[in-house]
Amino acid sequence: YNIMMETAPPRFHPVGKYATVEFREDCAGSCRECVKKKCVSGIFKENYLHAISMEEPEYLYTCQSCFRCVQECTRGIFSRVIDPEYRTLGDDYWRPDILNRTWYQAHTGKVPVSGAGYRGPFVGKGFDSMWTDMSEIVRPTRDGIHGREYINTCIELSRRPDRLKFRDDMSLGTDVPPILEIPVPVMFQHPKFGVSGGNVLLTMARAAHELGTMMFIRAEDYADAFAPYAENLIPCLTKDNYQDFADIISKTRMAELAYASGIENELDKLRSLHPGLFISIGIPLNKKAASCALELVQTDADTLHFYADDHGNELDTENPRSLKDTIREIHLRLVENNMRQKINLVFSGGIAMAEHMAKAIICGADGVTVDNSLLIALECRLCYLCKADKPCPVKLEDADPDWGSQRIINLMCAWRNQLLEVMGAMGIREARRLRGEVGRSMKFEDLEAENFGPIFGERKVSGDK
Ligand code: SF4
Ligand code: SF4
Repeated sequence: YNIMMETAPPRFHPVGKYATVEFREDCAGSCRECVKKKCVSGIFKENYLHAISMEEPEYLYTCQSCFRCVQECTRGIFSRVIDPEYRTLGDDYWRPDILNRTWYQAHTGKVPVSGAGYRGPFVGKGFDSMWTDMSEIVRPTRDGIHGREYINTCIELSRRPDRLKFRDDMSLGTDVPPILEIPVPVMFQHPKFGVSGGNVLLTMARAAHELGTMMFIRAEDYADAFAPYAENLIPCLTKDNYQDFADIISKTRMAELAYASGIENELDKLRSLHPGLFISIGIPLNKKAASCALELVQTDADTLHFYADDHGNELDTENPRSLKDTIREIHLRLVENNMRQKINLVFSGGIAMAEHMAKAIICGADGVTVDNSLLIALECRLCYLCKADKPCPVKLEDADPDWGSQRIINLMCAWRNQLLEVMGAMGIREARRLRGEVGRSMKFEDLEAENFGPIFGERKVSGDK
C-alpha cells in the first residue's frame, strides 16, 4: 500500500508564521554569495515570482525559520517578525501552527520539518503530556518510510471470532466472518461546521475512496453523486430513521446507529436490510462511555465509535478529561473483562495532527477519524464565519473536487509517513500491534510521580492552574 502524493498548490496565499522585513536600502546590491540564493526553501525565488506577478510576497509559509538568511547576510538586512494575521488563526486547541503545517502537508504531501527545532512548552494538555518512546538502543528500528521494510498500517472494522477451532483432519472448524479492513488507521468524519455545499463533501468522499478508507456521513446528506463512492461511506443513522434509508444501506458496506437504549434489538433488523452489513454504534464520549462499551461488546456490533468534542474532550461534564485518558479507560475496561479482542474502538474529535493518531492508538484505540483537518486541507482558516452565514474567505464551495481530493490525499500521505516513522523507530511493524502499547510511551503524570513524588509527595494542584 502506498499513497501517491502530487503537489496541489493553494488557491489563496496561505497565512505564514513569519513575515520578512528586508531593509533593502542597506543592501550592498552586488554580493556574489547573496544569502537569498542559499535559502533551502527557495523563499526568495518564490518572492521574486510573486513580485513579477505583482502579488503579496511577504507571507512565507514554507520558510523553515532556520535564520540562515538573518545570520549570514553580510549587511544584516533581514529580520523575521511574526505575522499578526497568523496569531488570529484557529483557537487555543486548533493552533495557528497546526493550521499552517496542515496546509503545507496538503500542498506537498511531505512530512513537515522545523529548522529552528521545537520551541513550545515542555508539557501541555491532553496528548501534549505524552511522548512516544523511540529509543533505538533497546530494540531494532525498522525502515518503513523508505520502503526497505514493509510496515503494515491496516486495521479492521469487523468483528473477529474469539478463537479458531480445528477439526480432527486439521481443517478449519470455525466459521470465519467476513473481514472489513482499511489500509490506514484513520477515517473521515463529516465536519460539524464549515461550508458543506458545492462539492466539499463529495471531495472528501472521493479522497476516502481513493485512499481505501471510510467516511462517516449524515444519511440526510447522501445524494446520487455519492454513488461511485458508496462502498466507502458509512451513513450515520438512528434507530428511528434507519428504515427510511434502506436504499443507501443496501449500497454500503457499513452503517452506524446512534446509541440509544434498546439499540441491541435493532441490529438484526438493520442487517436484514443488507445481509453481511458491518455495524458501528456511535456513542457520546462521556462518563458513561466505558460502561456503555462493556454493555455493547456483548451485542453483534462490529465497531464502537466514540464522539468527543472538537478539542478531544469528554462531553457533558465541567471537568472533562482528554482523549488520552478516556481512550485508556475504555480500552482497559474491556481488557479487564477479557472483551477487548471482540470489538474495534474508533474515536472522533480533536484529532488534529499525525501524532494524535499514533498516540490515540498507543492509548488503546484501533483507529481515529479526522474532521476539521479535512476542511483545513481545503484551505479552511477556522474563522467560523460560515457559522454566522457569512461568505467563506477561501471560497470553499468553489473548490474543484480533483484538486481538493488530492490535497486530502497528500495530507493523509504525510500523516501515514509520520506514523511509519514513529512505528519504525519503535521497531513495530503493524499498526494493530501498536494498539495499547503504552510501554512505548511516557506520560508526564507518571514521570512526575516517579521522579518528584518521592521528594515532594502527591501533586495537590492541577498543572493547568
Ligand atoms: S530563515 Fe531559512 S528557510 Fe527561512 S527564508 Fe531564511 S534561509 Fe530561507
Ligand atoms: S474558512 Fe471560515 S468560513 Fe470558510 S469553511 Fe473555514 S471556518 Fe467556515
